[in-house]
Amino acid sequence: MSEPYATAEELDAEDELAPYRKNFVLDETVYLDGNSLGALPRAVPARLADVVEREWGRMRIRSWSESGWWDAPERIGDRIAPLVGAAEGQIVVGDSTSVNIFKAVVAAVRIAQEESAGRPVRSEILVDAATFPTDGYIAESAARMTGATVRAVPAAGMADAAGPATAVALVNHVDYRTGELHDLAAATAAVHRAGGRIVWDVCHSAGALPVELDASGADFAVGCTYKYLNGGPGSPAFLYVRRELQSRFDSPLPGWNSHTDPFAMSPGYVPAEGASRARVGTPDVLSMLALEEALKVWDGVDIAAVRVKSLALTDFFLGRVRAYVPGGRLTSLTPEAHERRGSQVSLLCGGGDGGDGGNDGNGGNDGDGASAPDAESVMAALHARGVVGDFRRPGVLRFGFTPLYTSFADAERAASALGEAVRAG
Ligand SMILES: *Cc1c(COP(=O)(O)O)cnc(C)c1O
Repeated sequence: MSEPYATAEELDAEDELAPYRKNFVLDETVYLDGNSLGALPRAVPARLADVVEREWGRMRIRSWSESGWWDAPERIGDRIAPLVGAAEGQIVVGDSTSVNIFKAVVAAVRIAQEESAGRPVRSEILVDAATFPTDGYIAESAARMTGATVRAVPAAGMADAAGPATAVALVNHVDYRTGELHDLAAATAAVHRAGGRIVWDVCHSAGALPVELDASGADFAVGCTYKYLNGGPGSPAFLYVRRELQSRFDSPLPGWNSHTDPFAMSPGYVPAEGASRARVGTPDVLSMLALEEALKVWDGVDIAAVRVKSLALTDFFLGRVRAYVPGGRLTSLTPEAHERRGSQVSLLCGGGDGGDGGNDGNGGNDGDGASAPDAESVMAALHARGVVGDFRRPGVLRFGFTPLYTSFADAERAASALGEAVRAG
């Protein structure tokens, strides 16, 4: 049968980002889990050894100033800024995503409530109904602290749900389970028209696709650095506070690092100006400096080119999955439409509606009673074939495509191995 599409070899040969792959430590494994833990950039181990042996080992306390440790949260924030469409001076790095969501949501509610002075108090926090769980848990606590209530709303319905009671909307830019991309500019504009504030969780979009924070008017954004930004396990998250809101950012965690003069050690709190106001305590220097080195792989990379390759990779993978996997066994949860797709493919084990998948095979395991393959065992079979994705309950196989180091040949091998794994059932 003739092949109507370009082959993986042809696509890899034309790929302008292909040279970046050598900047990462990889082996024969097809690694499609960079949406959970990015691969190790090759330059990080030597830099980390230098930080430990020279900066800590020999320079000791002098490194806080002479090695730039103290200013690392703002400096590294400025390195992330162009990747998320932000001008400098609006991002600090530190703490986990969860902690930064807390800071942003409470600060946003405080601003919204201050703005409702003289009118009924804005008392509702809208939370993306499919949110990564930590965001929802933290929004509940933020609501208790501020006298607000939480209402779960589908991310795509945020624009319609926002109204006079809305203090803040907390939305995941890309859904971590399905890979669906939401319209950041449109939802931001709608929440603003309703008089509320918006906090974006960009964990699954930062480093994966263009995120236009400044241009869209987003108020706050929080993102992970250990996923598409390859900062390493537990590397610190980042918090974007729009410049116009910085002077009104009233942190619920006003630690001494956010004081205007931390070394005055004064008993009274006076917040710093600028992004530094979002700091809390002493930064985790080792993780932070590993992240700083990891971010150098982005030097010279155009995030628009990353997006083009990401869509080409996920299109190619979806096409090859259709070719290799028996009909009806897997259903893609990832939108076909490019404007609604992030940089991962999520496949649900089992047919969609009206599938003929129930009787097109030899039945697989006796006594199973269902045609749907078990997602956990399919992923285990994939790992055994050297293809690493992950699995999320109930029955979702996730494959992350990281354009700086994923090749079309990887996508081809993964789809082929997936066909075998599903048939092996
Ligand atoms: C990965 C992820 C997190 C993780 O939060 P941590 O505090 O780093 O554990 C939060 N939100 C989303 C949407 C994520 O994808």
